[in-house]
Amino acid sequence: MHHDDTGQLSRRRFLKSAAAIGAASVFAGKATAALSSAGAAPTAAPSNSSKEKLIPTFCAMCGPSPGCGIYAIVRDGKLVGVKGMKESPLNRGKLCPKAHASAQWVYSPDRLTTPLRRIGAKGEGKFEPITWDQALDIIAAKLKEQKAKYGPESLAILSPAHRTYSAYLYRFLLAHGSPNYGHSGICAMQRAFAYSYTLGSSPRSDIGKTKLAVIWGKQPIYAGASKGGIKDILDAKERGAKIVAIKPTMEPDVALADVWVPVRPGTDAALALAMLNVVVGEKLYDEKFVREWTYGFEPLVEHVKKYTPEWAAPITGVDAEQIRSVARLYATTKPATIQTGNGFEHAPGCADAIRAVSILSAITGNLDRPGGDLLGGPGEGGGPGGRPRASDLRGKITQELVNKLVAPEFPLPFQPMQEGPSSAYYRIIESVLTEKPYPVRTIIAPGTQPSVTNRGPKNVIAALKKLDFYVVIDVTRTAEMDYADIVIPVASMYEIDHPFESTGNWTMARNKVIEPLGAYKSDYEFWIELAVRMGYGKDFWNGSLAECMNEQLKPLGLTMEELRAKPTGIVRTEPRLPVYEKYARVFSAPSTRLDRAPYLPQGKVAIYNTTFEKHGFNPLPEWKEPPESPTATPELLDRFPLVFSDFHTSKVFTASWQRNVPYLREVLPDPTVQIHPDTAKARGIAHGDWVVVESPHGTAKFKAEVYPGIRSDTVMALHGWWQACAELKRPGFPLLDGGANANNLYSTDLKKACDPLVTAYTSQTLVQVRKA
Ligand code: SF4
Repeated sequence: MHHDDTGQLSRRRFLKSAAAIGAASVFAGKATAALSSAGAAPTAAPSNSSKEKLIPTFCAMCGPSPGCGIYAIVRDGKLVGVKGMKESPLNRGKLCPKAHASAQWVYSPDRLTTPLRRIGAKGEGKFEPITWDQALDIIAAKLKEQKAKYGPESLAILSPAHRTYSAYLYRFLLAHGSPNYGHSGICAMQRAFAYSYTLGSSPRSDIGKTKLAVIWGKQPIYAGASKGGIKDILDAKERGAKIVAIKPTMEPDVALADVWVPVRPGTDAALALAMLNVVVGEKLYDEKFVREWTYGFEPLVEHVKKYTPEWAAPITGVDAEQIRSVARLYATTKPATIQTGNGFEHAPGCADAIRAVSILSAITGNLDRPGGDLLGGPGEGGGPGGRPRASDLRGKITQELVNKLVAPEFPLPFQPMQEGPSSAYYRIIESVLTEKPYPVRTIIAPGTQPSVTNRGPKNVIAALKKLDFYVVIDVTRTAEMDYADIVIPVASMYEIDHPFESTGNWTMARNKVIEPLGAYKSDYEFWIELAVRMGYGKDFWNGSLAECMNEQLKPLGLTMEELRAKPTGIVRTEPRLPVYEKYARVFSAPSTRLDRAPYLPQGKVAIYNTTFEKHGFNPLPEWKEPPESPTATPELLDRFPLVFSDFHTSKVFTASWQRNVPYLREVLPDPTVQIHPDTAKARGIAHGDWVVVESPHGTAKFKAEVYPGIRSDTVMALHGWWQACAELKRPGFPLLDGGANANNLYSTDLKKACDPLVTAYTSQTLVQVRKA
């Protein structure tokens, strides 16, 4: 990424580099920066220009992991740009385009400036400014009143994409006595669950040593590109490894692939089951591994006979012959690895898709072997020095608490999972509307927008209207802020000097880059101060943020200030080589349930899952149709002949944020829907025309992106559009029908639209597209 001689990124250069598949800076040179321990630069180092300072900190432009290391460029007290931090073992000096828009995001006219109290009707958008003390007092009084009247479980907190402060949200709920932490149900927990109950842990791809990498339902170029994913693929390619990309549209990674499998959205389970049929039927499996380390292979042999490639072809839209050849290629190229992505978590067959993929990896002998799918988590490569202490209150989780979940994300026998007990967003919304099993009375939404990120925006808005008390916590205005009773304006991560962040073997203190632009506190300060007002001070370091940080850093033998004195943090050195074939240990490791019994009761890969069977779920993976699809509801094809899905990763935006940032909005100015040239032509649609997409459940409007790299029976749009961009005079969009919110198009029938095990929601429906 080019900067001018002051270190700033020019607009012209930004656009040029962002357009170059959104990751130009990622490819800048070979990532050979040495992994070093504490850097020696001063905390605020002079840059080339004498007027400027470079302040080491973290990028704050995406989640869920703590962020790439940056040097913030500050001139006259103002953030003017960022540079990648070479000393960071996470991004090694690389950045993605979003990082370069940091200053525009921080100085956006959409920033909240002071706490607000609603004075108009819900949705009217009339607020008055109040002080922080008033805001905290009002929230504490309401929570105390509701706790006394309805019990602590009347409070739910909606989880943002996982961030460091997520632990404090859990901590507050557990101190309060509520289990109702709301996961989105379309994020990483769904895969983690199915992997854990099949393999004992989520695998990591050993792509550095592989001969074949399957990139399945994943966008490795736009999603966290600076963190190394795309470089790994490029290196593998250079080494001569084969790449198979499985996804409905031709994204930039497909250009690197030897084989593209253009599967219909949401049909990954059918494809994986058919691959199992080939691998098992043609005996392409590792007999020794199957015999020694799997449970239930014999029933699988019978079970997958019906899932022939010919059965899967009309469901997946992939030729039976291509399914056969991909299955054979995968099973006969050793070693091979499968990287799954978030695409899996947007289908009611999510759990069985991941189970089938896990079984493919296991029976082909690719589990925990060099170049395959490694088990045991990133801790295996650790080293001396210890890890920061967790800041949750896991010891307070009891069965009684778990049983109070208003809308379990996973069925109760499987709670709690890794983070703790969890409800699912949309199920919480339903409980407000139906009052079953009881009504949630207060929802706190930190850094999240439930009507844009989740299904059924009409029901979300209805629930927010009905809800007793709604608190929004954010940096800028949010989509549903007008329904809030209290709005809390938190500082951006460039305006605070905490927390420290820890990724892998790297731990670094966050430094304040600029003085806060408004009456802000941090998310951390908000939760600690609210907890003290609620009488939970004992569990919240008696209100001391310094104590909070220092307690977590104790295992590293450092205080926060000692860590801060090392500007680029510490990197724990001497990583051990990965230990392979840890089957006995990983397969018998305890689960996160309260009984701590292993995920895998037989101490082997659970091909036939007796735990699921015991609780009334399929012991073997099966196919579950989306609520609407060509094979599930052929009767709808006359009116709605096309498959629709939305994707959540773009080259410049993080989820449903940042449409208000001019640099980013210039790259993607309008909500678009990808449509094949033949499909567009048949409807008289030209590139750039506004079109109406109509499903059995609602409508949305997008600009047509006529694109030959998509299946002709499928149209796909980027999710998350609602925000205007004042500087560019680009409009915002209504949340409900007629706007650009893809969530209006999907079924909200929880029986059909959700995976029964992991509450993954459908992102598939049938639509018609016409010129607007
Ligand atoms: S991936 Fe991009 S937006 Fe995310 S932390 Fe790294 S540079 Fe920032």
